Formats: sequence, structure tokens, C-alpha cells
Amino acid sequence: MSTDLPFISYGRQSIDQQDIEAVIAVLKSDYLTQGPAITAFEAGLKSVTGAQFVSVMSNATAALHVACLALEVGSGDRVWTSPNSFVASANCALYCGAAVDFVDIDPVSLNMSVAALVEKLDQAERDGSLPKVVIPVHFAGESCDMAEIGTLAKKYGFRVIEDASHAIGGRYGDNPVGSSEYSDITVFSFHPVKIVTTAEGGAASTNDPELGRKLAELRTHGITRDPAQMINASEGAWYYEQTSLGLNYRMTDLQAALGLSQLDRLEPFIAKRHLIGDRYDDELAALPLTLPVRQSGRRSALHLYPIQVKDVDRRKAVFDKLRSAQIGVNVHYIPIHLQPYYQALGFKSGDFPAAEHYYAGAISIPMHPSMSDDDQLRVIGALKQALI
Ligand SMILES: *Cc1c(COP(=O)(O)O)cnc(C)c1O
Repeated sequence: MSTDLPFISYGRQSIDQQDIEAVIAVLKSDYLTQGPAITAFEAGLKSVTGAQFVSVMSNATAALHVACLALEVGSGDRVWTSPNSFVASANCALYCGAAVDFVDIDPVSLNMSVAALVEKLDQAERDGSLPKVVIPVHFAGESCDMAEIGTLAKKYGFRVIEDASHAIGGRYGDNPVGSSEYSDITVFSFHPVKIVTTAEGGAASTNDPELGRKLAELRTHGITRDPAQMINASEGAWYYEQTSLGLNYRMTDLQAALGLSQLDRLEPFIAKRHLIGDRYDDELAALPLTLPVRQSGRRSALHLYPIQVKDVDRRKAVFDKLRSAQIGVNVHYIPIHLQPYYQALGFKSGDFPAAEHYYAGAISIPMHPSMSDDDQLRVIGALKQALI
């Protein structure tokens, strides 16, 4: 195949004229940061997710960090997440001085396995090593088994942060992801490869007023300007108090205006992703691949379309052939516990076999709303060619 073909990336942003004008309008306005676009984007996210409180932040990694701080994760605490995720899902706990552990995935949903979680919780209860927080990750955009995880949270007394970086616009049962029906906090990412973008950006949502207040304060130095939250009496209109140790994880108004404009197209984005996903399901069914499964009663946001090459020894060759055909495939994810940093903490190859087995065959093929029908035909054709 010739290499002068355009490169089709596995994921990328879709920016239209309305998005461009929204950003330009902020540039011409009074506030480049902490202005009205932030509040408007937060209101938009509340209506999309059904959450009562939303704080936008500089990125999802920051939002995960602040979510852990709001739940008072600290040294001596344990946080569990999925090994099949981006490193940020685990790093947030380390930032707080807590210990991280992983719960293996279900080989079909590729999300945290409830059976593995139950087994690990039983063991941890006997050992006196229960987690303070569990962070399920909605891999590729499809919600984890939140009702079951919520029931276990009550039984064993842990808190839940949903890492919904892939999943804005997804649904679990009757509710949008982010409604936090079975969790304390939900985190979203607006990185350009995700569903809607603010360039860099993230958000944390909750229905708990106290957590909502903490999320809002911790992203801006732990400072409050609300007299009701102050330790001392206000000394005047200039007065603010720092009451906790927060960070500067604020989003700019330029980003928020882009995000709000993008939210207008959330439904069309998801619909297009489903068209692409349905076509892949049909066209790739006969190939020696394991295709991603969409479960009933949920709507995936279809951030990724992760296929598995059944003969794992051929994965690298297939990947390389696709790349040389200008198909921007990628792999999501190298299991976090296999990263050198985590190996140095004591994790070993073989610790989470389902995540490792999935990784051995995994390739994410292009999936984003700017793909044309012809782009998708090229991906399908190249894949068939690579698997001959
Ligand atoms: C992208 C991603 C993050 C981090 O998002 P940023 O906004 O880039 O910080 C965290 N978790 C998961 C699962 C992600 O895919």
C-alpha cells in the first residue's frame, strides 16, 4: 500500500466554526480565566450528567487527584483501580501518599471484574487491608457494573470515584454516566482524543454538597471566598481564607468556551461513533479477532474500538502493517502494573492475568467522529490485508 495516503489517527478532535468563534469571543472579552465561560460550561456538564455539582479542572489527572484529596485519601490508605487503564487512574492515589493495588478485569467487558473485586475484598477484610477508595474505569466508554460496585461499597465501607475519562455521553441503565448514582465522584477528561475536548481539560462531578465544595476549593489553592465557610469573620470584601492545602488546577475560560460549544454536538458525536462501531462489528466479524462487546442496558460512549488479535504472536506484525498503511492504530492499555515505576513498587508480570492477556492481543483501531466512510473502508481493508 502506498504511503502517500493521509494518516487516519485512532482518535482526534472534531472542531467546527462555532467552536472557533466561541474561543475567539472569550479572547475579546474581559476574562481569560475564572470568568463566565467556566460557570456556563459547568452548567452544561450538570445538565448532560444530571450531577448537582461539577468543577472543571486543568485535566482529568488533576480532577482524579482532587477527587482523592476530597475523599481524604492519605498515607496509610489503600486505593484500588483497574490495571487496564491509563497510568493517571493509579497515580492519583500515589500523589496523596496512599498505596495502590489493582483488581483484574473481566475478559469480556474489559472493565474491573466484580467477581475479582468480591474475592479481593473478602481477602482484604480478613487481612484488615480494605481499600478506602475504589476507582472503576469505564474502559472504551462503557460503564462498569456500577450497581454491584455500589452495593459492595456499602457492605465494605469504601468510597467510589468513577474514572469516566472515556465515557461522557454514555449511559448506565436510565442514567447518564456522571449522575454518580452509585459513586461519590465521577471524573471526565476533555483531552483531544476523548469524546468532547477543551484541548487539556477535565471535570469532577458529585451530588454531595460537601464534596462539591471541596472539589471547587481544592482546585484553587484550598481558598474560599464564602463567609459561611470561613474560620474567622470576614474582614471585608477583599477577604479570603485558605482552609485546606489545594492546588492551582483551574481551567481557563478559553477552554471552557470550547468545551461548552463542543457539548452541543455530544449527541451527534456519540451517534456517529455508534455508526462506525456497528459497521466494524459487521465487517470484522469473520476475521480472527475478538471484537469489543457492548452490553445491553448501557450506552457506551465508544471512545475506543479495541480489537484483540486472537493469535497474540501476530499482534505486533498486524499492528506494524496497519501503521505502514497509514492507519494510526494504538494500544490501550499496557497494564499499569507492568510499568517500570509500578514494578519497582513490587508488582509483577502475572499479577493480573486477564489484563495481561487482553493487552497481548490488543489494538485500538481508528474511532472518531471526523472519520469518513472511505476512511473506515480503508481501515477495514488494511486490517483484512494484515490478517491474511
Ligand atoms: C485520558 C485519561 C486520563 C487522563 O486524562 P487527562 O485529561 O489527559 O489528564 C485518565 N484516565 C483515563 C482512563 C484516561 O483515558
